[in-house]
Amino acid sequence: MTPHRAHLVALLLVLLPALAHGQMAVPPDADPRVSQIVAAVSEARLRALATTLVSFGTRESMSTTTSPTRGIGAARQWIFDEMARSSPRLQVSFDTHVIAPQGRFTRQTELRNVMAVLPGRSPRRIYITGHYDSLSLGSGGQQARNAPGGENPQARADFDHDAEAPGANDDGSGTVLTMELARVFAESGVTFDATLVFICWAGEEQGLVGSSAHAQALAAARVPVEANFNNDIVGNVRGGNGVIDAETVRVYSVGPEDSMSRSLARYVARTAAIHVPSHRIRLMAREDRFGRGSDHSSFTRQGFPAVVFREANENFAKQHSAADTLEGVDFPYLAQNARVNAAAAATLALAPPAPAVIDERGQNLLTRGPSGYDAQLRWNASPGAVAYRIAWRDTWTNDWQHRQTVGNVTEFVLPNVSIDDFVFGVAAIGADGHESLTSAYVSPVRQSADVKVVK
Ligand SMILES: [Zn+2]
Repeated sequence: MTPHRAHLVALLLVLLPALAHGQMAVPPDADPRVSQIVAAVSEARLRALATTLVSFGTRESMSTTTSPTRGIGAARQWIFDEMARSSPRLQVSFDTHVIAPQGRFTRQTELRNVMAVLPGRSPRRIYITGHYDSLSLGSGGQQARNAPGGENPQARADFDHDAEAPGANDDGSGTVLTMELARVFAESGVTFDATLVFICWAGEEQGLVGSSAHAQALAAARVPVEANFNNDIVGNVRGGNGVIDAETVRVYSVGPEDSMSRSLARYVARTAAIHVPSHRIRLMAREDRFGRGSDHSSFTRQGFPAVVFREANENFAKQHSAADTLEGVDFPYLAQNARVNAAAAATLALAPPAPAVIDERGQNLLTRGPSGYDAQLRWNASPGAVAYRIAWRDTWTNDWQHRQTVGNVTEFVLPNVSIDDFVFGVAAIGADGHESLTSAYVSPVRQSADVKVVK
C-alpha cells in the first residue's frame, strides 16, 4: 500500500463512523505529502540566500541598475537566476511595470517583480510573496519615523537612493522565505490542483507599487486568485523593547469577520496546528499593524483573499535603516514561519476550490426554507469535491463552533436553526480529504437614504 493510499484508508476509518452519526469532528488532515513539504524547508538555505541578498548593499527601488554587484538591478537578476536554478519545474520571469512619477517615485521607474510559477492542474492561483526592495530612512530608521513629527524623506529631491540598506529582515526575511518555498514546492514532486505563484515584489516601500500593478492586472484579466500568503518582517525574535518571542507569528487579515481573508487566516491556524504544532499562530482581526501596511493589501483591494505574516515583536530602530543586518535575523525562527506558510499553502493547493455561496446576481444562497424557521443552505458545486462541510457559529463569535460533514450535495437544511441568529459557511472536501477555504454567507449591508423632511 502506498503512503498515499494508507492515508486515504486512515481517513475513511475516521470519517465513516462519524458520517454514520451525521455529525463529526474535523478529521486530522496530516497528509504525508504536506508533512514532507514542511520538513523540506532548510534553515541553512534560508541563511545562505539571505547572506547573498544583503551583499548587494541596497535594493532600494530607485537604486542603481547598472552595477553587477550592487543595487536593485544586480539583486533582482540574482533572485531570478537563483529561482531558475533551484528547480526546472519553476517558470521564472520578470513581471515588469514602468511606473509614472507619483508619490515617492520622483522619476519614471521600471519595477521588476520576480515571479516563479509552479503550474497546477487548474488555473486557480495561490500566491506566496515577500518584497525584495529595501529602504534606508537614515539614522533611527522606522523608529524616528514613528516618533511624533517624524516625516518620510523619500520624495525629497536630495534623497540618497544608493545609501546602504541591507534590508535583512525588512524584507529579506520574506524574500528568502518565498525563494525557499518555491524550491521546496517545485522539488517535492507533488502535483497540486492549484497553480502556485511565488513572487518577490519591488516597490513596496514606495506604497505597495509592484504588487498593486500586478494585482490590478490579475483583476482586469479575471484570474482566479484564491489566496495570497504575504510575508513582511518575519525573521526577528527580539523586540526593540527587549521582549523575546521565537514561538509566535502574527497573522493579520482584513475584515469583515466573514471575509475570505479571515477564512484564510483561520485556515493558517488550522493547518499549522496539524503540521507545525510547536509554533503559535496569533490571529489578528485587522488588516495590518496600526498605521502600517504591506503587499497583501494590493490583493484585498482587488477582492482577492490575503493575509500577512509578521514576527511577534518588532525592532523599529532597525527597520528602514543601515542597521537591518543579518545579525537581526533568527534563522530557526524564520524557518518555522516558512513551515507555517508551507503547511497552509500545500493543503489549500491540494484541496478543491471553495464553493460559491452567492448566485450570479450576488444574492446569498441562504433562506429560511419552506417552514420559514429553518436554515436552508445552498451552494454551487466545486470541481473535484466529494463532500462538503457546513459550519456555523453565533454571530458574536469569530470562529466556527459547529461543523457537519454532508455528502456530495449542494443543499442542506438545519431544522429550526435561525439564519438571523447564526453565521453559516460551507467548505468543499476533495477525494484526499483536504478541505477548501470556508465560504461564509455574509449578511448584506442594507441600503437606505435619508427621508425627505418638510419641516
Ligand atoms: Zn517591509
